[in-house]
Amino acid sequence: IAKEVKDALSSSSLIRKMFEEGAALKKIHGAENIFDFSLGNPDLSPPPAFHKTLLELVNEETPGVHGYMPNAGYPETRAAIAEKVSAEHGVLIDSSHVIMSVGAAGALNTVFKAILNPADEVIVNKPYFMEYRAYAKNHRGNIIEVETEDDFNLNLEGIRSALSNETAAVLINSPNNPTGRVYTSETLKALSAILSLHGEKTGRYPYLIADEPYREIVFNGIKTAPVLNAYKNSIVVSSYSKSLSLAGERIGYIALSPDADEAALLAEALIYATRVLGFVNAPALMQRCVERLTKETVNIAVYRERRDAFKQVLDAVDIHYAEPEGAFYIFAKVPHRKGRAAQETDAGEDDLAFCEHLKKYLILGVPGAGFGKKGWMRFAYCVNDKLIKASADAFKKALAAWRGEMIR
Ligand code: PLP
Repeated sequence: IAKEVKDALSSSSLIRKMFEEGAALKKIHGAENIFDFSLGNPDLSPPPAFHKTLLELVNEETPGVHGYMPNAGYPETRAAIAEKVSAEHGVLIDSSHVIMSVGAAGALNTVFKAILNPADEVIVNKPYFMEYRAYAKNHRGNIIEVETEDDFNLNLEGIRSALSNETAAVLINSPNNPTGRVYTSETLKALSAILSLHGEKTGRYPYLIADEPYREIVFNGIKTAPVLNAYKNSIVVSSYSKSLSLAGERIGYIALSPDADEAALLAEALIYATRVLGFVNAPALMQRCVERLTKETVNIAVYRERRDAFKQVLDAVDIHYAEPEGAFYIFAKVPHRKGRAAQETDAGEDDLAFCEHLKKYLILGVPGAGFGKKGWMRFAYCVNDKLIKASADAFKKALAAWRGEMIR
């Protein structure tokens, strides 16, 4: 076994251990009695139009439909997605700017393979989806972490000072996992200005990669800002894992700004990377499905209701959290513990202990350390609302014990 993989296995064992313990708790107490908010696996069924389309496609006998296809995907699917992305990003793209991918994870690996030279840097904003580290490493790139602002918005000055001659890309994720933050158009324009200035000075315009599998999951009139019209060297990676609840089907796409430097060569590089990474092409049946479903999503209102229910649970025990504007996560600050100085908790040492403590009350979440942010915890509310409401009592008891209070 490769040393790098062995090392990765031992360093990720904490989260693995948590999953194993969660599974063991479910065996003992029954899954319905465990308040499992640890996984970002959408529980909503795909919309009815998905099942209808799937059945129609399965019943069509089109010759050659199970064979190889162009590595970039079916031309008609790429064209349908180009139309959707054009509307979302305020810029006219066509099928040549879209490459179908094996989810957003496959898309990110494809992009990194296509753009990274050894020791090139990818700037990410902390807290972040930790798989980015492994994906960059797969392609000999280095992750450079920049702290976000206190409200988890992008720290533009931090990004500016992290830029170097080695910067190949800045990677953003909005709506954000784990914070639920959605960046505004103004923020993205300001980021674009910083990247353009850096490009003018150094001759190397970093890519702006927008990882947006949660684009459609936004609440209370908030809109996910366009990226492709904000900066010339921008690349969107996305998937239907969350918006259509198709995470297991592994279907996503990459969309390029038509104004990117050498856009045609970049598209060729991405198509080559798709092929040689062994994906060859994105799943055929799912391509044909999503082509007909570009206007569909799961019922977003359900996630909003769950978010509100979860906020109520946390408010009742006085846990501070970042107001979630999108995605289906709530990022909560570990509260002060009995007998511990406030500064100690503020230094962020207690998320692992708090996570362990909650487990005693059958509540599961992910420590902030799993996203590079100690002192915080992520709860995923892509679970049935009854479970969220039923967790209120367990939270109450858990917090009273944590704070050393008497329960009246
Ligand atoms: N990016 C972020 C921020 C995610 O949270 C996830 C999955 O949870 C992914 C990418 C990977 O998504 P996919 O299932 O489309 O590969």
